[in-house]
Amino acid sequence: MSLTDRDLKVIWHPYTQMKTAAPPVPIVRGKGALLFDEHGNQYIDAVSSWWVNIHGHAHPYIAQKVSEQLHKLEHVIFAGFTHEGAIELAERLLKILPDNQQKVFYSDNGSTAVEVAIKMCLQYWHNKGEKRTKIIAFKNAYHGDTFGAMAVSGRSAFTAAFDQLLFEVEFIDLPDAANSSNLKSLISHLKAEAACFIFEPLVQGAGGMLMYEAGYLDELMMHCRNEGVLMIADEVFTGFGRTGKRFACNHVTEQPDIMCFSKGLTGGTMALGLTTCTQQIFDAFLSDDRLKTLFHGHSFTANPVACAAALASLDLFLQSATTENIEKITGMHRQFGEKIKDHPKVKTTRQTGTIFAMEWETGSDTSYFNSLRDTLYTYFLNAGIILRPLGNTLYILPPYCITNDQLTYIYAKIEQALNEI
Ligand SMILES: *Cc1c(COP(=O)(O)O)cnc(C)c1O
Repeated sequence: MSLTDRDLKVIWHPYTQMKTAAPPVPIVRGKGALLFDEHGNQYIDAVSSWWVNIHGHAHPYIAQKVSEQLHKLEHVIFAGFTHEGAIELAERLLKILPDNQQKVFYSDNGSTAVEVAIKMCLQYWHNKGEKRTKIIAFKNAYHGDTFGAMAVSGRSAFTAAFDQLLFEVEFIDLPDAANSSNLKSLISHLKAEAACFIFEPLVQGAGGMLMYEAGYLDELMMHCRNEGVLMIADEVFTGFGRTGKRFACNHVTEQPDIMCFSKGLTGGTMALGLTTCTQQIFDAFLSDDRLKTLFHGHSFTANPVACAAALASLDLFLQSATTENIEKITGMHRQFGEKIKDHPKVKTTRQTGTIFAMEWETGSDTSYFNSLRDTLYTYFLNAGIILRPLGNTLYILPPYCITNDQLTYIYAKIEQALNEI
């Protein structure tokens, strides 16, 4: 039996309508930006395997470090025990994060990193004896698929079955020149009950690669700081170079109280989540009263193998060659955007660092709109490129090691699609 047939018998895939979806493509190996199926066909991974991969697939350096770690220590309980990798990763990350970040709390993935961040904020106020439980978030936000993370995400078709059970959140618009002062008054108005403001800095990924200006975010953050509203920067997607700087928060001057990381953290090798916070947050949990403890943890918290992958990925990330690649991709994206922006099928283009997005003009034809996403997905897959449009938004989000030829090929195929579809 083929891998596909065996899969169809036993697997339930994520975000997949199992009745109508095309059978999955079995991948047997990867190298650089390429993935290979069992027949030897190659695919350029232009979405970094759901935005996690930054240095390419099966990177030999990461593989070696992970393998060495596996022979030393695969896992140890992280309550009452510790290990070198978790400590070193925390030390090295804190050195490159905004300097108010002082403590690292480990978990398993982006959603859990967000759950931890929310719990830190809610319990911060609880421990201080203040009744502040309201959370402020952006419309169209995406912070994960567990219940807390889903609650602070925008309501959509994806959350409809659960909406009644999700806690109430104050959703605000993305800031711009027109609404900036209104948003600030809104925050001032809510401050007495506001536990925190959670946001994806600069780019809302799953919301459709929606982008907003650092200057307006900075103003909003400064306002939160003045009003005593805690800030959570969810950098699960934007962290580790995606926006052109190491972290999206490097584009603003104000610093968040809490930051969330996952995805690129291990170079896309293993599942690992991480929530960092200020000394002020941490101190609110220090007490002789045990009830002030942060009661949260996962079986695989700070898994040593995942930490080894993250440390190896960090080594690569800090090399100047990686910075040069990020700048190269940023420049090539910009040129491509310039080239296609006036094409009649292109509604808008936008870009932040290595993230390029364009909206396909659909006119008023909604049936065309509904099938466009699948048409584009299949078109590019047949051309040996993995692109997963979000509705009519097509985006390119490559591993930083992608070659000029591979990137040029993707651009050429998109132009061809603009003329053919
Ligand atoms: C992907 C994502 C998450 C959730 O991460 P998972 O590892 O998929 O649980 C949270 N926040 C943002 C901004 C994301 O893009």
